Amino acid sequence: MRCLHPLLLLLCFSSPLMAERVYYERGEQRLEIDLSPQLPSYRHDEVLGWIRDTADALAAVHGRWPRDRWRVRVIPYNTRGSDPVPWAQVNRGEPDTVSFYIDPRASREQLSGNWTAYHEFAHLLIPYRGWGDMWFSEGLASYYQNLLQARHGVFDEREMWQRLHDGFIRGRTNRRPDLSLAELSPAMRENRSYMRVYWSGAWYFFRADTELRRRSNGRQSLDTALAGLNACCADKAMSAREIAVELDRVTGELLFVPLFDQVAASRALPPFEEQFSELGIELSDGAVTLRNTHPLADIRGAIARQAEPGGR
Ligand SMILES: [Zn+2]
Repeated sequence: MRCLHPLLLLLCFSSPLMAERVYYERGEQRLEIDLSPQLPSYRHDEVLGWIRDTADALAAVHGRWPRDRWRVRVIPYNTRGSDPVPWAQVNRGEPDTVSFYIDPRASREQLSGNWTAYHEFAHLLIPYRGWGDMWFSEGLASYYQNLLQARHGVFDEREMWQRLHDGFIRGRTNRRPDLSLAELSPAMRENRSYMRVYWSGAWYFFRADTELRRRSNGRQSLDTALAGLNACCADKAMSAREIAVELDRVTGELLFVPLFDQVAASRALPPFEEQFSELGIELSDGAVTLRNTHPLADIRGAIARQAEPGGR
């Protein structure tokens, strides 16, 4: 029997044959954390701390988890590599489940400093049906993994923009300029085009987020748009374009759908330098410098900060 946090972890049980299940609750919402029986018990405290901490970062996007009930599975994976989380995946269902295959030797610091959990949890921010237009789902996770890490103090704002910049540069590698993103997305494996697909999608959300903040003078953002989407549609299973339609409806803007069609038809990752310049992000030999005197610097800084409840 293990109960690490008596206020939050309500029920624990262990069995040599079954995973140990620990509940982590926020109000009415519940996360089930299943620890594999193969995970040494002396690692449980650190692993649970890592999962809870990252789940808190996800909840901070709009004040609650995207699903009222969801599950995380943690399975040890013996590896000779240095990656603390060599494999992870999201399975949509009842409930949505995120599985992490972790190096059982990885320290809490190594787990918390790794991007994978932020990426996988960010997938849950949309009620995606789980297939089709992978660029949209992977783009959202690739964009938000960096925002969540900056907001959670893993690194600072400059590093966040550096990582987004570096991702966009990687996304410019283009083995199939003859294919639109919509055509390439389902064929990214055979064309080894993960980076163009993922980062064109991240560009979509970066562009939508900055434009929504600019149009609304900071009253709306991708965070608030996703809160609206969650309020109407958390229990649905939607296609990427259906989600874009809903995001335009909840924001009252004509933004997500036109941008969706533009990016889906793109044959290379769209330029980002002009957008960076407008936000006060200067580039010199691939290194990012932030200029706070720029008129849109507030928008830039707000993207890296957690929004105040009910405010900007
Ligand atoms: Zn992903």
